[in-house]
Amino acid sequence: MVEPSREMIRGCRVTKLELLWGPHPRVRIAIEGQPVADGTCVVYWMQRAQRGRDNAALNLAIATGNALKLPVIACFGLTAAYPSAQRRHYRFLVDGLIDIKADLNAKGVAFVVRLGDPAEVVLKLASELKPAVVIGDENPLRVGQMWRDHLTESLQVPLRFVDSDVVIPTSLFPKEEYAARTIRPKIHRIWDEYLKPIPNPKAQVPWPDDMLPKGEAIETEGLLGKLKVGGVGEVPSYRGGTQEAIRRLRIFIEQRLPRYATERNEPTPYMTSELSAHLHFGQISPLTIALAVLEADVPEESRASYLEELIVRRELAINFVARNPRYDELSGCPNWALATLAKHADDPRPHRYSPAQLEAGESHDPLWNASQMEMVLTGRMHNYMRMYWAKKILEWCPDAEAAFAVAMDLNDRYEMDGRDPNGYTGIAWAIGGKHDRPWPERPIFGTVRFMSYESTRRKFDSDGYIARVRSLGQGRLFDA
Ligand SMILES: Cc1cc2nc3c(=O)[nH]c(=O)nc-3n(C[C@H](O)[C@H](O)[C@H](O)COP(=O)(O)OP(=O)(O)OC[C@H]3O[C@@H](n4cnc5c(N)ncnc54)[C@H](O)[C@@H]3O)c2cc1C
Repeated sequence: MVEPSREMIRGCRVTKLELLWGPHPRVRIAIEGQPVADGTCVVYWMQRAQRGRDNAALNLAIATGNALKLPVIACFGLTAAYPSAQRRHYRFLVDGLIDIKADLNAKGVAFVVRLGDPAEVVLKLASELKPAVVIGDENPLRVGQMWRDHLTESLQVPLRFVDSDVVIPTSLFPKEEYAARTIRPKIHRIWDEYLKPIPNPKAQVPWPDDMLPKGEAIETEGLLGKLKVGGVGEVPSYRGGTQEAIRRLRIFIEQRLPRYATERNEPTPYMTSELSAHLHFGQISPLTIALAVLEADVPEESRASYLEELIVRRELAINFVARNPRYDELSGCPNWALATLAKHADDPRPHRYSPAQLEAGESHDPLWNASQMEMVLTGRMHNYMRMYWAKKILEWCPDAEAAFAVAMDLNDRYEMDGRDPNGYTGIAWAIGGKHDRPWPERPIFGTVRFMSYESTRRKFDSDGYIARVRSLGQGRLFDA
């Protein structure tokens, strides 16, 4: 066997296949066993980590292929049935496939995209190719878990999953964390070990050109045409893909990061990275971003403030969805919040709006309407406005359960970064006090933190924000 000579997964000093296949906090063994002796290749099932670089799951596949002297193929199963995903999300995802193909091919790894249930796509490909082993990437959300369970039940070869979209492996936090203050010291204690570049190895046995299995042409309009997905209007100017993520990262580091600590809460203009959708689709690794931020010549407070969001808050959200099966229901929120919301369930609600009125941005509150319309028109909303937006939905819906459902539905359908652990956690924080603490009691909210129109509008140039969103609209609200 050829020995992989470099460190393929952070923290795993690989010198031979046994070590490569030994235990590692980033790797979960779904189907035990050594690679099949007469297997023809290594299959990497790319699901959440939709990129061809800085990807620990891809690295494990390539290192295993190199050790076994086998070629590597990555496959992506594209389903039109992902809950709440709209055409705007599919365009973003499909744009990203083009960059993946280019990066993989440059490493000698083949890439095949097929339409259908992702687990079924992998099973079919495995039955055609007879791989020695299949490697996938982790996704803490329920849908990804169901796909992985289905594959694990039916696949006949060894199967491993690599947790490649977090800086610190999720397995190191086996219990649900109470708040940022409980996970932060645990993360800080070990993050030096993980905040190091990972290699980008090449396949030593390139995939033979004449053996590429059948797949879809990787071309945006053609794939979108075949998917036939409708839904809310597209945002073609909000481009997906690794190249676009890297372009945004460069602009962020040069122009915004120096002011991040002091201006990140101001939506006029954004001083944040606007990388959440690319992170959601796995088109850039959080490690790539963190290392660029660590190297940047910026004030220490900006660096620390950004890494707090990117690592501590983001990985707290991943811990929540990975450890709490009710992450997308009000009942997944802490007991103190459920009790106080129940106590105030019958409080008078001076303003009440239906889900349709909220979706159309037809409240009495111009700031809220602007944030809703910003999300509808551009596929994003500033973090500060997201907090306000969700709190007002609680105030204006008949009860907290209804508010939770409306916020989740709008967030998932309109935000380009929706259907993400950060979204479920953000909504649970705003409406159900998740990761927060009790505040002084008041109507409707009880002791869940409140945000008022008056204080929020004074925090930044809210008139400028409203005017900017209005100028975006110009009647083009629902163009699907
Ligand atoms: C009600 C509500 C709904 C939200 N819905 C989503 C969602 O659907 N998808 C989503 O990715 N984020 C969501 N967030 C979290 C946060 O608003 C976004 O991650 C952030 O606005 C993305 O913009 P950015 O990339 O410019 O952030 P930056 O400030 O540049 O932060 C860098 C990265 O850190 C992470 N991050 C930032 N803020 C948070 C946070 N509060 N919690 C967890 N991680 C964070 C994100 O991955 C982000 O891309 C929500 C927050 C709230 C309060």
